[in-house]
Amino acid sequence: MGAYERITQEGGMKVMKYADIIVDISHEDLDRTYQYLIPEELKERALLGVQVLVPFGKGNRQIKGYIIGLSDLPKWKEEAIKPITAIAEDTLMIESQLISLAGWMKDNFGSTMNEALKTVLPVKKTVKQKENRVIKAALSGEELQAVLEGEKKKNNKGRVRLLEELLKNPSLDYEWVKNTLNISLSTMKDLEKLGIIHREASVLYRNPVKQPSTVAKSVVLSPSQQEIADDFLKEYHEGIRKTYLLHGVTGSGKTEVYIKIIEEMIKEGKQVIVLIPEISLTYQTVMRFYQKFGDRVSIMNSKLSQGEKYDQYVRAKNGDIDIMIGPRSALFTPFQDLGLIIMDEEHEGSYKSENPPKYHARETAIERARLCGASVILGSATPSLESYKKALEGEYTLYRLSEREGERKMPVIWTVDLREELKARNKSIFSRKLQTLMEERLKRKEQIMLFINRRGYAGFVSCRSCGLVLKCPHCDISLTSHNNGKLVCHYCGYEEEFPDKCPSCGSKYIASFGTGTQKVEEMAKKEFPHARILRMDMDTTKKKGGHEEILSAFANGQADILVGTQMIVKGHDFPRVTLVGILAADLSLYAADFRASERTFQLLTQASGRAGRAELSGEVVIQTYQPEHHSIVYAGKGDYEEFYKREMLYRKLMSYPPASHIMAVLVVSKEEEKGSKASELLTKALKQWEEKEELMEYHVIGPAPARLSKANDIFRFCFYIKEDDYQRLMAAKDFLDGFYRFSDEFQGIAVQFDFDPMNSY
Ligand code: ADP
Ligand code: ZN
Ligand code: ZN
Repeated sequence: MGAYERITQEGGMKVMKYADIIVDISHEDLDRTYQYLIPEELKERALLGVQVLVPFGKGNRQIKGYIIGLSDLPKWKEEAIKPITAIAEDTLMIESQLISLAGWMKDNFGSTMNEALKTVLPVKKTVKQKENRVIKAALSGEELQAVLEGEKKKNNKGRVRLLEELLKNPSLDYEWVKNTLNISLSTMKDLEKLGIIHREASVLYRNPVKQPSTVAKSVVLSPSQQEIADDFLKEYHEGIRKTYLLHGVTGSGKTEVYIKIIEEMIKEGKQVIVLIPEISLTYQTVMRFYQKFGDRVSIMNSKLSQGEKYDQYVRAKNGDIDIMIGPRSALFTPFQDLGLIIMDEEHEGSYKSENPPKYHARETAIERARLCGASVILGSATPSLESYKKALEGEYTLYRLSEREGERKMPVIWTVDLREELKARNKSIFSRKLQTLMEERLKRKEQIMLFINRRGYAGFVSCRSCGLVLKCPHCDISLTSHNNGKLVCHYCGYEEEFPDKCPSCGSKYIASFGTGTQKVEEMAKKEFPHARILRMDMDTTKKKGGHEEILSAFANGQADILVGTQMIVKGHDFPRVTLVGILAADLSLYAADFRASERTFQLLTQASGRAGRAELSGEVVIQTYQPEHHSIVYAGKGDYEEFYKREMLYRKLMSYPPASHIMAVLVVSKEEEKGSKASELLTKALKQWEEKEELMEYHVIGPAPARLSKANDIFRFCFYIKEDDYQRLMAAKDFLDGFYRFSDEFQGIAVQFDFDPMNSY
């Protein structure tokens, strides 16, 4: 265990002749590898990530290194390649595990090994830490002497060494103890547990979390919450390691369940990673953990400085913390004794990396857990179709929390048909229902959130009279309007003229759709001149802490209405919010992307969940041109199950994930012509390879210019391969990758792969 085995297509283990070795895993040197010969007797054990001893330099000094690549071809004169001396004893090092994981990521998501290593290994910039940690005796000299005698009898050599030194000097330098005296961290920890020594740091690490002044409110889990915690822990103690999906409605206490489970894991000396989307990583959330676990918790986020980040890694590796909370990248925290990975809001798109390797943190978390014998808990009010499918099929264990605790009730949801508003001559962006409810709230001094979803908004074209949206006849994806007056499908390249009348009802009210937060704010000011309004979007949150500032101002009652994008959906609890208005539920529905319906259902459900989180009960108004669309119908009913069934039918019909798999291949070039040719060359080469190898045909869609066809003067082309069998997609990726790296036509062209993409290109 601990090393990743490359399984060949024949199913056997592929045995390689040479290994690429790095001798120093500091960031800068990752691509400096040295090739060594694998001696016959080590072939089975020389796997990716394994630590080895190799002769180095002129004097053939023996040093340690890691295997980060395996191959059959010598890069050098064969006779000049030195053999690996031995496999290092301690091959279950955390670094070995992370390198194994990088190899898995490279194969499963497509990237170079170097890119994958940079993702998993901490950035060791030249950040100097001025720490001064010490090991101190916690007992008097006599007591210590007595303990020493006991340990001598038991022949505990490490303990004896340390105790003898402590008798000479009651305060020792930690680094010296660890490296020179060669005392393992677990020995120190054990002695600390027994109350014989304690560890101290005289200079504190840069800790990004400020110490809270309040203590955690004590929560007694409800029977259904307790049942979940008990079941998980029972299985854990039985040695079962697997993935669990906690499907709990918004505000059902998922976080309380996590906290309970973490508490138990820590008592057993295990460490825990808690993944949270960056956007929900607010002060409020972090504080709930911090109040419970104090400075045994640390956080990771994109706003931390390089130095702060590196410190977090070191603290984790030294065992100074037990819990790491953070977005995607926190997954690679080098805990030596990881017991559990929790992934909250597992459906969130931000768990997918946008840079190679374009890994999904969910699958990667499951692989990391497998490598080190940990379990995984995925949590969401709106699980991804991927996870829910696996839970129904029994691959994951499904836990449910279908109610909120105590007095708090789920909100009442009203769906308003905007076509009716047009008929009733209401031209305002607020429907009559929403206006009435807003007035009521303002009078009662309760708060309102107005939500407009702009993410994924892609200039789709719809009829304001009948609600028709123009779609590609081949892909069932909304067409996007272009400046040249054409409508284009970004999956297959299909084009048609922009119509002057609605092809369905003949109305002339057909146009591309769009409204912004700023406009909503203006309209609200006009209609409710006495209301105090806050706006939260990309513009108002640019500066550091802007996001947090607006949310806490609103939480403190400094405004009556908060207008915002999807940013306002997550993180904070606002006990006085009793009305949520979703102004144009359709906006996300027609993003040119097969996940559009799922994302809309998630957003509507999450946004609705903001209403009535405390004693005051809540109402939600969903405004839409498509009240009959399944995303809107089932979000309105709060019925995840039915939504899942409906949406899965569509995915099956169209062979989209999770019914099948799809790989996007993105070709980028500074020259348009060249990029276009290259993408065609790739699809042709794939075809030829298929024929030559007599493979089953791949289902290729495209190539076509990407939705974002040009960015920073770089042209982007894209094609997709649909395929049931993930292994076959990986094989296609390997072929295309090899083809493009070794052909001259691809000078100046980059090719990227994205498996089961979260967004269209
Ligand atoms: P979720 O993570 O599912 O959205 P939370 O854990 O944030 O839900 O719970 C929502 C609110 O309800 C929080 O303020 C939480 O403290 C409270 N809560 C949840 N379960 C209980 C409980 N058993 N007793 C008291 N309060 C609870
Ligand atoms: Zn129409
Ligand atoms: Zn199409």
